[in-house]
Amino acid sequence: MSDFLSRLAAAVPAVTTDPDAMEAYRRDQCLLAEAGRPLAVVKAGSVEDVVAVVGLCRQYGVPLVTRGAGTGLAGGANALDGGVVLVMAGMDRILEIDEVARTARVEPGVINADLDRAAAAAGLWYVPDPGSREICSIGGNLATNAGGMCCAKYGTTQDHVLELTAVLGTGEVIRTGRATRKNVVGLDLTRLLVGSEGTLGVIVEATVRLRPRPQGLATVAATFPSVQAAIDLVLALGREGDAAAIELMDRTTVRAVNAMTRMGLDEEAGAVLLAQFDGADAAARAQRCAELAAAFGAEAFATDDPAEGSALMEARRAALPAIERLGATLLDDVCVGTHRLPALIAAVEEIAARHGVAIGTFGHAADGNLHPTIVYDPADPAAQRAARAAFDEVLGAALALGGTITGEHGVGSLKAPYVVRQVGATERELMVRIKAAFDPAGILNPGRGF
Ligand SMILES: Cc1cc2nc3c(=O)[nH]c(=O)nc-3n(C[C@H](O)[C@H](O)[C@H](O)COP(=O)(O)OP(=O)(O)OC[C@H]3O[C@@H](n4cnc5c(N)ncnc54)[C@H](O)[C@@H]3O)c2cc1C
Repeated sequence: MSDFLSRLAAAVPAVTTDPDAMEAYRRDQCLLAEAGRPLAVVKAGSVEDVVAVVGLCRQYGVPLVTRGAGTGLAGGANALDGGVVLVMAGMDRILEIDEVARTARVEPGVINADLDRAAAAAGLWYVPDPGSREICSIGGNLATNAGGMCCAKYGTTQDHVLELTAVLGTGEVIRTGRATRKNVVGLDLTRLLVGSEGTLGVIVEATVRLRPRPQGLATVAATFPSVQAAIDLVLALGREGDAAAIELMDRTTVRAVNAMTRMGLDEEAGAVLLAQFDGADAAARAQRCAELAAAFGAEAFATDDPAEGSALMEARRAALPAIERLGATLLDDVCVGTHRLPALIAAVEEIAARHGVAIGTFGHAADGNLHPTIVYDPADPAAQRAARAAFDEVLGAALALGGTITGEHGVGSLKAPYVVRQVGATERELMVRIKAAFDPAGILNPGRGF
């Protein structure tokens, strides 16, 4: 391996092999997933760097993990033993914003919120808005097909990408897609790369779609006696058209958010729902939402002040860090049809009671995408076992309801063992064969994603 390392150091400028310096690049935000000890961390500065690193890894059979900002929640960017971690964060230039075509061409290390701020300066909007938007990268968003709050109305990351440039496991550079409204030529390799979690190629450039910024914005905060009552409102709103966002927090989550932020949300409520409406009729729809909420037993407050609305939505953005302060956590990311949310909530409550564990549930209710988060004492082996069993059973409950084991965080290494349970052996084998076409030596993030 010393031959490999010396050739790597000669080929690219920013190579680190010092274990202390590499420590910061060993894992993402999923503390549960294993993280290996890498041979080297390489900070990519150009497409040429990426091609060189991939070529050497291929030649020496060294596994390569691509890393964006490391905010992933499935262990997908965790280092592998004896591998290379290729950090894309330094390739962070916004190359072009085309106001007429309403597109942006970016390097993968651009932070999501920075792209949106640059779009806003041109009166435009980069829509995908994961809760981590201030800290996660566009490359990571593409590789996980990240969601966020406005997916029910505007779709996930895949609905906002037009073209990708990627380095395959062969070292070849491909350019997929077209910056057009329509394009049906051949197989859709862009869609295949989006959500592939670094297993098919290293994304080195993307052209994404921008939209005009919506004119009106109104927000409703409603406190319900129970989670089920809050879900009744979600279903009722769904019948009236898409809200821009409907976010749910149960009582455990609300208490955790209050403890962290001193926001003073109603801690006795069974659940808090935050709904946002955009467009010319936003205020009227928010008013209607507040009235409906009251009919379901809620106390509701509506505002069409955007600043007040964003402050309310911040409570939801704080949910994950707030719950993480309560103990060790196992975060689920299940998604079901919204009409199945009442059954999912009932199953989660039953699982929590049977295993005697605390589960805080929050998430993107408008999509049916919830994050039941199991909180446990890591020093207590029995509590750890109960938490793990509850985590598995929540996944099982989602599958039994026709749902998915991950709606937006990705499979990573955390959920790889569960993939067959959802897709079946034949479909998984097909994924393995597709990977072999992109990455014949199997060096790109092996063992992750499926
Ligand atoms: C507080 C908090 C809130 C969050 N909220 C949301 C949310 O609302 N919605 C949501 O979807 N996620 C959310 N996440 C999870 C996370 O932010 C997303 O998965 C995000 O897309 C990861 O981006 P990243 O740049 O940090 O990628 P990383 O964690 O570095 O990598 C994620 C995956 O992408 C691959 N990858 C990264 N860059 C590239 C590239 N250039 N080419 C190929 N593969 C690449 C990695 O190998 C890995 O498999 C949240 C995380 C936190 C900590």
